[in-house]
Amino acid sequence: MKQADLILTNISYILTMDADLTQLTDSDIVIKDGKIIDIGKDKKNEYYGKTIDCREKIAIPGLINTHTHAAMTLLRGYGSDNPLKIWLEEYIWPVEGKFVSYDFVKDGTDIACYEMLRNGITTFVDMYFYEDAVAESVKNAGMRAALCTGILDFPNPGASSPDEGLKKTEEFIKRYQGDENIYPCVGPHAPYTCSPETLKKAMEIAEKYDTLFHIHVSETTFEVETIKEKYGKTPVEHLDSIGVLNDRVLAAHMVHPTDKEIELLAERNAKVAHCPESNLKLASGVAPVPKMLDAEVVVSVGTDGTASNDDLDIIGEIATAAKLHKGVNLDPTVVNAKQALQMATINGAKALRLEDKIGSLEVGKYADITLIDTQDPHLQPLFDPYTQIVYSSTGKEVDTVIVNGEIVVLDKKVLVLDKEELLEKAQYWKEKTLNG
Ligand SMILES: [Zn+2]
Repeated sequence: MKQADLILTNISYILTMDADLTQLTDSDIVIKDGKIIDIGKDKKNEYYGKTIDCREKIAIPGLINTHTHAAMTLLRGYGSDNPLKIWLEEYIWPVEGKFVSYDFVKDGTDIACYEMLRNGITTFVDMYFYEDAVAESVKNAGMRAALCTGILDFPNPGASSPDEGLKKTEEFIKRYQGDENIYPCVGPHAPYTCSPETLKKAMEIAEKYDTLFHIHVSETTFEVETIKEKYGKTPVEHLDSIGVLNDRVLAAHMVHPTDKEIELLAERNAKVAHCPESNLKLASGVAPVPKMLDAEVVVSVGTDGTASNDDLDIIGEIATAAKLHKGVNLDPTVVNAKQALQMATINGAKALRLEDKIGSLEVGKYADITLIDTQDPHLQPLFDPYTQIVYSSTGKEVDTVIVNGEIVVLDKKVLVLDKEELLEKAQYWKEKTLNG
């Protein structure tokens, strides 16, 4: 018998999400030093250590949310159902201008981490301000995250100029480089809010420190028209023409790419964070995901901030994606359940350039695991676990979450954060928002 830290036994289904989409039944996962060291049938007979019986549960890789603004949980539902311009100018920006601070970001991100863990998300990508506060929340919650400060050409809560934003980004990267949980990266906001100069400088930093380059691209027709008018090119062509389209790029939204832009994304191996619910709520449009998948573009999935979603539920998000694209393409075969779950797991890992570490349940990878409870009438009878996850469940059926081999959610309860404290924080910021 060999020693292990944690043994998950009798798991009804393990959807490994490896390259062959290997599916195991009634099997075990063995964890040591934060990593998966063994996986398969009757492995429990070879190891001793803390054991959890996972009968009637489905194990999937920890879910990956590749685009959010976590602290915006404090603006959840604020000014909903208005035209984008009014929503931003009369609701979101004034509150952000007044209140965004270390404490605002820390409290908002704590709430976001609770919600994400509860919904089985173990890793996320965040772009906001005061990313040190986000990093503190992520560490407290025992999660993983790729974090970047939004860089803009105009004054914002994070910096008074793009150069200050770039400088802060570089300092932040230096502070967290090599960290196992925090992957610092570069976050120029968008092609229409950053000049070519700013974008090029941002890419220089990403290359110097070997980080991700996270940016919003082709979110609205307004953006596409603005870029065309200014540079005579579509947004993706524009990025390519100034030399900032490569495999570091994680482009959020990508709602309106042309066929030529899709080809360029595939050629340069740039990745996409598809945010269907935000695109629907803000009436931005529907991204051509089946076309991008056909072109072998890596499409991952993001919630965007809760102010435009309004939740941080990746299972809900892939359910929306899977149905939305069938509907608009009049084709029930596109974005099938397996592809939808790939978008939330291994494609997310590829989007973060961490596919050798997370995104599938394989020996040697970090033990980031989400277990879904199937013992509810609405999940039975269970013919196919992929179908059940994507079309029948939400994040609320997530029973257990393990990050880095540590149990952070058990029996549907988040162990690492205090729910009552978070409710008080939400109330505190609501009063401040309403009373100024
Ligand atoms: Zn966004």
